[in-house]
Amino acid sequence: MDSAYKVRIIGDPVLRRRANEVTEIDGALAAVTDEMLDTMYAEPGIGLAAPQVGIEQRFFVYDVGDGPETLINPVIMESDGEWTYAEGCLSVPGLFWDLVRPKEILIKGYDLTGEEVQIEADELLSRLFQHEMDHLNGVLLVDHLDEEQRKDAMKTLRQWQDNVENDPDDIDPSLGLSLP
Ligand SMILES: [Zn+2]
Repeated sequence: MDSAYKVRIIGDPVLRRRANEVTEIDGALAAVTDEMLDTMYAEPGIGLAAPQVGIEQRFFVYDVGDGPETLINPVIMESDGEWTYAEGCLSVPGLFWDLVRPKEILIKGYDLTGEEVQIEADELLSRLFQHEMDHLNGVLLVDHLDEEQRKDAMKTLRQWQDNVENDPDDIDPSLGLSLP
């Protein structure tokens, strides 16, 4: 479970700030994404945004089963439909909520070679992109809850934070965005 980065948890102010555009796509950035992928696989998760490891830049890594990928300076161009999915987050450990978001999106960004890429994504991949985009904008999944879900969430998070204060090792290590 040892990896270079520690995933920041809800309450950490870095998760609430808008990340900056990446200005240089180079070997240093590629090395960072390798470390982030190690961290993501160790958790385990299927996506990890730079602010989640304290890096305030607009990129994320992901792997939905087709191998590791990085998307840099992403922008969602179009979105369509509705899809419900039990969404979790490595920064809000162990909690999942049914959230409705657009089912399909068109996203563009840059890969590690500096090439512009456009990806049409549906269902899980689309959800992952929307979730990671939120992280780049300082938004967490608790911001998408309805009032009842939010009350539940706050209660659970308070209990969870009490536990962490009593015993920092007693953190539920699951799961983040996981495959259904
Ligand atoms: Zn997340």
